[in-house]
Amino acid sequence: MNYSVIGNDSPDDDNGLIDESLHTILQDVKLLFEPENGDVEIAEDDKYLKCFQEFKEDYKNSMKIYLENSKTFEKKREMTNAIVGFSLTMAKKTDGKYVSRIKDLVNEFVESEKLEELKKDLENSEMNIRKLFKISSLTNYLSMNNEYYCFICLERGIDTMIEPCGHVICESCSKGAIQQCPFCRANISSFKKLIIA
Ligand SMILES: [Zn+2]
Ligand SMILES: [Zn+2]
Repeated sequence: MNYSVIGNDSPDDDNGLIDESLHTILQDVKLLFEPENGDVEIAEDDKYLKCFQEFKEDYKNSMKIYLENSKTFEKKREMTNAIVGFSLTMAKKTDGKYVSRIKDLVNEFVESEKLEELKKDLENSEMNIRKLFKISSLTNYLSMNNEYYCFICLERGIDTMIEPCGHVICESCSKGAIQQCPFCRANISSFKKLIIA
């Protein structure tokens, strides 16, 4: 049974995700949106707009699930560690007499708390969010105004920095009771106001 820390390794690099040819395509697409090519009207029922809105919803829902899974897993892991620690102390006090029984009880507890399944859920939602995050980065890359959106809500601009890791989100999302950075899983000590001149 292994319920050790997961996800503390840095997310996969861009390797293979943005290769040379994709880079060229993105540059070409970006050129299409140069101001001299004129502005285009986008109807409310435009299929691309719909596609984008659906993606945004998908992303936001996945982020919500990921944050929830992350919170549940951390809480259960902390509890399990406390119980394991307590049990080991007890086992020592009984001169090893009940060690194997206590081990069984701990394993039973770990199993009943479904830690392994939770860990899988967390890993799956983490993978999903990383994939969507990557797609978001690509569309953000196309932004002519060089605006940076909060990667939790995709609604507002960034104005809040997570300490100590330095990732940035919006103020509103920082008030959503997140304890770990959604991008690197660092424990959050505080938020700092970010002023972009
Ligand atoms: Zn936000
Ligand atoms: Zn971070």
